[in-house]
Amino acid sequence: MEYTSTRDNGMKVSSARAIAQGISKEGGLFVPESLPRLTAADIDSLVPQSYIQRATAILSGFLTDFTAEELEQCVTAAYGSGNFPGDAVAPLAKLNDNTYMLELWHGPTCAFKDMALQLLPHLLTVSAKKEAGDKEIVILVATSGDTGKAALAGFQDVPGTRILVFYPQDGVSKVQKLQMATQEGANVAVQGVYGNFDDAQTGVKQLFTDPTLAARLDEKGLMFSSANSINWGRLVPQIVYYVSAYCDMIASGEIANGEAINVCVPTGNFGNILAAYYAAEMGVPINRLICASNVNKVLTDFIHTGTYDRRRELILTTSPSMDILISSNLERLLYALSGRDDKSVGEMMARLSGDGIYTVDDKVKQILQTRFWGGFCDEKSVMDTIKDVHETYSYLCDTHTAVAIGVHRQYMEQTEDATKTLIASTANPYKFAPSIWTAISGQLSDADEFDQIDMLHAATGMEIPPQILELKQKPVRFTESCAKEDMGKAVEGMLNLWLPAQKPLPVQGKRPE
Ligand SMILES: *Cc1c(COP(=O)(O)O)cnc(C)c1O
Repeated sequence: MEYTSTRDNGMKVSSARAIAQGISKEGGLFVPESLPRLTAADIDSLVPQSYIQRATAILSGFLTDFTAEELEQCVTAAYGSGNFPGDAVAPLAKLNDNTYMLELWHGPTCAFKDMALQLLPHLLTVSAKKEAGDKEIVILVATSGDTGKAALAGFQDVPGTRILVFYPQDGVSKVQKLQMATQEGANVAVQGVYGNFDDAQTGVKQLFTDPTLAARLDEKGLMFSSANSINWGRLVPQIVYYVSAYCDMIASGEIANGEAINVCVPTGNFGNILAAYYAAEMGVPINRLICASNVNKVLTDFIHTGTYDRRRELILTTSPSMDILISSNLERLLYALSGRDDKSVGEMMARLSGDGIYTVDDKVKQILQTRFWGGFCDEKSVMDTIKDVHETYSYLCDTHTAVAIGVHRQYMEQTEDATKTLIASTANPYKFAPSIWTAISGQLSDADEFDQIDMLHAATGMEIPPQILELKQKPVRFTESCAKEDMGKAVEGMLNLWLPAQKPLPVQGKRPE
């Protein structure tokens, strides 16, 4: 299977090249030329299989230049060996007759980013061997919280890779900061930036495109790559869990093979819901894709009007991973819905980065509104939903997941469509304990975040993930911060770019005693 670019149909690359390179030269995103088909018989044969077997089968349809052995090794390294508890990598929890929570947070960092970032490093190293002359890959990440930790955990001690993460010094929660600062591994480094997430992201983008730095890396046998969700290697692992969840619903007798379901996703960069769309296009019987936003409801407005308008103030909410005005992966959906019209996608993306607004034509708008339904939750409704879901079902959900549950309720009320629905549950509630505790108790607390974790545990009895509990005792390795202008210097320092080529590259930061 070949991959092309959303902005140039003339581009043809292998999956390994698409993953190693991350983004196409002209700025488009890599997409497969066609999707593998899943028939009802194929789904039947996946039903008795483990997550690892299902993942290997589905990925083999997309990554055709990987050998069966390579794929199996990558998938086993990601989802086996104690990374995820037991066989249930992405378990389902049934809330009521038509609502099923697809829990995507049982990985090492307690957020759904693990589902892709545990696999990506392995796909990337195999891809680099095939397509990049076996260079050592340097991953640069700017993070608003969840991605940085998930990427660090995924790349930790993966041979042939190093990872450098920048986070806004005062823009992440205490748990998130500690998760990164205590990261183990000989190939990792973490640095705060004095500034906000945009400053960190802009700095990283500049480093990616700095020709002097690229030449210096090349001399040292290194190359930059990206672990953010524009990389196909991060999207394709997410298709797997929708197929797998459908199989689980058949296996447990909740649905018959062929029965249509809906899927509802708390959405930020549009990666997770796009994976559900691809699963539907492959043949999984998914009717409606319900796109749930917080008050930064660019996508809700887009689905209702066909006009995407980012010209508005970003509002900080209790679901920070969805505080986003430019949903990068929407470009891939526009490409698919427009019948692979690379010219019009390129024009719309140019308008988005120029004027900040574009409108799709009526044909695209009509398909968009048939397949998708958009809604949003304000902060009060997020808090009310967490409390109500806990009281009604004794089920604790995080703030992002609450947005999706709230929007699904609106959907059912407005459409009277009671089709069985998978709701993507994207984070363990203890990652956002202060917000959840306030929702459950109706009180604001200025206690330390770890005390609020204990208070939440006392109030709900839900098990605290050991990865979060042990943060309190773990030695802090990374404490440094830099000005946004000095991020380039920080990278040079962290990689020791100016040392003679033969010396091993030491990693900055104290090793745990
Ligand atoms: C990243 C993230 C999201 C948004 O997912 P996208 O793929 O960017 O749409 C939702 N919830 C949580 C907890 C996340 O970390």
